[in-house]
Amino acid sequence: MYLDNSATTQVSEEVFEEMKPYFTEEFGNPSTLYKYGRESKKALNQARQRVADAINAKPEEIIFTSGGSESDNLAIKGIAFKLAKKGKHIITTEIEHPAVTETLHFLESLDFKVTYLPVYENGIIKIEDLKEAITDETILITVMHANNEIGTVQPIEEIGKIAKEHGIKFHTDAVQSFGKIEVDVEKLNVDLLSLSSHKLNGPKGVGAIYIRKGTRLVPLIHGGGQERGIRAGTENVPGIVGFGKACELASQQLEEHYEKLSSIRDELIEKVLSTVPEAYVNGDREQRLPNLVNFRFKAIEGESLILLLDAKGYQASTGSACSSNKLEASPVLTALGLDPVDVHGSLRISLAPESDTFDIDEFVGIIAESVARLREMSPLWNQELDYDGVMCSKHGDDCRMC
Ligand SMILES: *Cc1c(COP(=O)(O)O)cnc(C)c1O
Repeated sequence: MYLDNSATTQVSEEVFEEMKPYFTEEFGNPSTLYKYGRESKKALNQARQRVADAINAKPEEIIFTSGGSESDNLAIKGIAFKLAKKGKHIITTEIEHPAVTETLHFLESLDFKVTYLPVYENGIIKIEDLKEAITDETILITVMHANNEIGTVQPIEEIGKIAKEHGIKFHTDAVQSFGKIEVDVEKLNVDLLSLSSHKLNGPKGVGAIYIRKGTRLVPLIHGGGQERGIRAGTENVPGIVGFGKACELASQQLEEHYEKLSSIRDELIEKVLSTVPEAYVNGDREQRLPNLVNFRFKAIEGESLILLLDAKGYQASTGSACSSNKLEASPVLTALGLDPVDVHGSLRISLAPESDTFDIDEFVGIIAESVARLREMSPLWNQELDYDGVMCSKHGDDCRMC
């Protein structure tokens, strides 16, 4: 049972069928004038229309990219480089995706100043903090729509209004929210918005950026002038066609999927919290995606739990309490103000519409059993310990968790 749909999703059969001809007979370069090229160009235009329709944009406001990471980079660097003469201050949050935070760290090395808004225990920013952070130098606000680890949804509409009042460009990363909740660029008041195909049953390596008409930015990739000169390079036609189809399907099924996913999620939350002692939900209970929940179990290591669940056939993730190559506490969970030891006991479950085939009772039973087994071995569970004395060299001295 695959329960890690926030990491990636399976390409749906309909999407795959739509893509197939563009790998074989319809192989033309969309920039050429003869028939093959024209057919590819037509397919690109149709996909562009489908993406635009899904977010209430105009087709000329959609630029195809290689995915969410590129779209985030293009939005942030593109605006920063365009407006550097006007000011060098950017506002963001403490819980952005690395495609945003690492881009901002890079800009800090070029003397840009970045304010990271706190998110508090519920994983949501406060509008007053944003208002206070704005200066005459502020050129860009970038705040994600929904978080990929805990699923909380930010007040994008309100942030957009404030950005507009101050004449500041506003970008949101909508990679996780798109296809799960409504994403309407007019309602959200955004100037730039990032999308990725593989999080919504489309192929990997393709995405888009919405750029509101009249918003100018510096390209990342210079070359043959494709995508209105904003993103050079021969277009990934099969990928873009698949992405277009995935957008069409996702918006047709949005409400039906919302109902289905949120009812599975709520049942899961209710059963986990009533079955497993000392279990909690990370982040706000209301302002969240329908398909994602991040649990916290006291005194266990998330990684060990993942392996026990995997052995039983359930694939989930920790929500990167420690990413696989770094033994670092998750910045997102840390930003919630959790104790460093508690940050490690997390489990992220992210559902897809096809998840309704799984037996929630059986799954919760396995979680309860696994957590109990890990706690039997856990010094944190078995002894009265003063948390101040339990840290390792990464987290502090003599950590018993690592
Ligand atoms: C997955 C993800 C990205 C990166 O998208 P890719 O297409 O994998 O580059 C960016 N932001 C968020 C919130 C994501 O979940």
